[in-house]
Amino acid sequence: MHPFSYVAVDNEPAAIDGAAAGGRYVAGGTTLIDLMREEVEQPQRLIDINGLPLRAVRLQDDALVIGALARMSDVAAHPAVLGSQPLIAEALIEGASPQIRNMASIGGNLLQRVRCPYFRTLDAPCNKRTPGSGCSAIDGVNTGHALFGTSAHCVATHPSDLAVALVALDATVALRGPAGERRISVEDLYRLPGETPHLEHALERGELIVEVHVPHGRYGRRARYLKVRDRASYEFAVVSVAAALYLSGGIVRAARLAAGGVGTRPWRFRVSEEALVGQSPGQPAWEAAAGLAIAGARPLSGNAFKVELLRRTIIRALEMAASGPEGGV
Ligand SMILES: Cc1cc2nc3c(=O)[nH]c(=O)nc-3n(C[C@H](O)[C@H](O)[C@H](O)COP(=O)(O)OP(=O)(O)OC[C@H]3O[C@@H](n4cnc5c(N)ncnc54)[C@H](O)[C@@H]3O)c2cc1C
Repeated sequence: MHPFSYVAVDNEPAAIDGAAAGGRYVAGGTTLIDLMREEVEQPQRLIDINGLPLRAVRLQDDALVIGALARMSDVAAHPAVLGSQPLIAEALIEGASPQIRNMASIGGNLLQRVRCPYFRTLDAPCNKRTPGSGCSAIDGVNTGHALFGTSAHCVATHPSDLAVALVALDATVALRGPAGERRISVEDLYRLPGETPHLEHALERGELIVEVHVPHGRYGRRARYLKVRDRASYEFAVVSVAAALYLSGGIVRAARLAAGGVGTRPWRFRVSEEALVGQSPGQPAWEAAAGLAIAGARPLSGNAFKVELLRRTIIRALEMAASGPEGGV
C-alpha cells in the first residue's frame, strides 16, 4: 500500500476544504481501502467523514431523506424506509454481506467503483484506471459487462443495487462543496463512459454527498427489486430490475423500470414505462414492456445471454410488483 496521511473531521467546512485540496473522503472504507490495498487507488490523503452528523433517516412532507453516512443495514431496517419505500430496503438487503452492510454508507455505496476484473488487475490495460491505456474487456472476457451505454473506451457495468432502485424512484442527491449546495438526480450523478471513462460521476472537486431525497410515490409494495446473480448471496448482479407500478381501476396508471448489471450506469427504461401506462396488468403488457427495453441492447462477444435474461427478469419483476397489496404499503 502506498503511504498516505489521514485526518478525521467533525465539521463539513473542514471536510470540504480538505477534499478541495486533493484529499479523498472515506466513510465505511469497504470500497476505497480495498482498492488502496490492491494499489488500484493511491490517494495521498484520506479525510474520514464519519464524525459528520449525516446518519439520520427522516420523512419530510415531500420525501424520504437518507443521510449520506447512514449505514446500509440501518437504512434497510429503518421503519420510515420500510413504510414508505420498501423497494430501497429490498435493494439494500440484496447487496454485499451483513458485515459489509454494517460498515458501508449510503454515500459510499453510490460512489463505489466498478467491478470489472481488468480495472482491478494492475497489468491489464484499463481506461478507467489508466486513461488512454485501452479497454481489455472489449476483446477479452466480457460476460459480465454492459449492454447499454458502452463506448469504444469502456464497457464496465455500474455495480450499486441501491442506485438502481433510486433511479427508478426519481431520487436526488444533495451535494455540498466549495461552490455551495446543489441537488442533482441520482441518474445524472453518473456519467456515461464516452471518451473519458475515468470520470465516473458528476461531483465537482471537494463536493460531498450529504443526503439522498426520495420523493413520495404511489408505488408502496407494488415496487420490487429482483436480482439475478451467480450465487444466492454476497454477489453482484448479473442482471437486476427495479419495477414499480401504480394501479387503479384495474389499469396501470404509472410505472417505473430500471435495471442493474446491464448498463454503464443504472439503466432506466422510459419507453417501456410509457408503454405500460393505460394497459391492463398482465403478461401481454409485461412482455411488450420487456421487448421495448431490450430493443436498444448492444451485446458484446460474451454477454448476449444477458439480453434474454434481462427480458425475463423484467417480466418477472413486473409480475411481482403487480401482485403487491392493493393500496401500496
Ligand atoms: C465483497 C463485496 C461485495 C459487495 N457486493 C455488493 C453488492 O452486491 N451490491 C452493492 O450495491 N454493493 C456491493 N458491494 C459494495 C459495497 O456496497 C460498497 O463497498 C459500499 O457501499 C461502499 O460504502 P463505504 O461507505 O464503505 O464507501 P467508501 O469505501 O468509504 O467510499 C467509496 C467511495 O465513495 C466516496 N465517498 C464516500 N462517502 C462519500 C460522500 N458522502 N460524499 C462524497 N464521496 C463519498 C469515497 O471517497 C470513495 O471514493 C460489495 C462490496 C464488497 C467488498
